[in-house]
Amino acid sequence: MAWNTIIGQERVKNLLRRSIERGQLAHAYLFYGIRGVGKQATAIEFARTILCLSSKSEACGECASCRKTALLQHPDLGLIIPLPVGKGEKTGDDPIDSLEEDQIQTIRQQIAFKSENPYYEIQIPKSNFIKINSVRNLKRISSLTSVEGSWKIFLILDADRMNAEASNSLLKTLEEPADKTLLVLTTSEKDRLLPTIISRCQLVQFSPLTDLEIAPALREREHVPPDEAMLAAKIAQGSYVVASELLSENLSAERKEVLDFIRVSLGWKELSRVDLIDELASSKDRNSIEHWLNVLQTWLRDAMVLRDARDSLALGAANDKEMQSFVQKFPKANIEQAIHSVETYVALVRKNVYLHLLLTTLSFDLKRTLAESIS
Ligand SMILES: [Zn+2]
Repeated sequence: MAWNTIIGQERVKNLLRRSIERGQLAHAYLFYGIRGVGKQATAIEFARTILCLSSKSEACGECASCRKTALLQHPDLGLIIPLPVGKGEKTGDDPIDSLEEDQIQTIRQQIAFKSENPYYEIQIPKSNFIKINSVRNLKRISSLTSVEGSWKIFLILDADRMNAEASNSLLKTLEEPADKTLLVLTTSEKDRLLPTIISRCQLVQFSPLTDLEIAPALREREHVPPDEAMLAAKIAQGSYVVASELLSENLSAERKEVLDFIRVSLGWKELSRVDLIDELASSKDRNSIEHWLNVLQTWLRDAMVLRDARDSLALGAANDKEMQSFVQKFPKANIEQAIHSVETYVALVRKNVYLHLLLTTLSFDLKRTLAESIS
């Protein structure tokens, strides 16, 4: 385990490595960017490197410290995450002590999963917020000397989930940073943090990953066949976590639904528009409709590439009989306009528009742009 466990993000890795080498560490960092691009994984590796006893810019993986950080069980590495509120828990209590035994077990297990796969997203039931008691605990520990005699590092994962109390308490810590204490906040919702918190952190932006970064990582880490890995990477829009989620769902089934939708919209297949839309709207929630719209966009993009023959090796497109017959049947389709139009629907899904209505309008839009285009 070392920096190469982080997929892509070369600019960020170089920046952090350099600040370790030069001994120029800020008191607090804010890692931000869309979900699933490696912010938490990078925060963990950053902490491991700083705590490594061999004091180089790469964690050795062998020293006593590296062995503990690999398990996320280093006494000088604190993980602050959203947790359930314990029965009768009062401000000032330990954030863990008042929880039930099975809740504590779940937390241990989730942290173990995270230590095995830094891209794993911790899921603990009833954990909506980062509790004030977790932040108070951080303050208490940071005022003590570190156990191993060097840095004390706290990773605040999903920092946007601090409630107002916790945020204000953290703000005080940021205003009076303790010596040799380092905080790393991560968030995919930077705008939900207090501006006063943001302004006290060194900002580190994480970019979306490219298809060519995601696909090989899926092949190596999750043993996904190359075609599927590339397809998932294309649809995931820069997020490794979304790509692996897509693979665990049924990607080819989604692709078939997309094709049915296009056929029905264009009157290319005798299927009832109403029935298909009913089925889609009732079987999917907003998140899966958003995925599904991304699959639709990818299909359209592939069709455009196939038609323009700019790249005869477009994934799947060359062997995709349905796509070829679409391109032949609708040579004047304004595919670009259709892709653009799907984009506006993605925005609408997020705005809580009634899904049934949204799919119906989309269907007519596709008919207009793809089947009736005169340009
Ligand atoms: Zn080490």
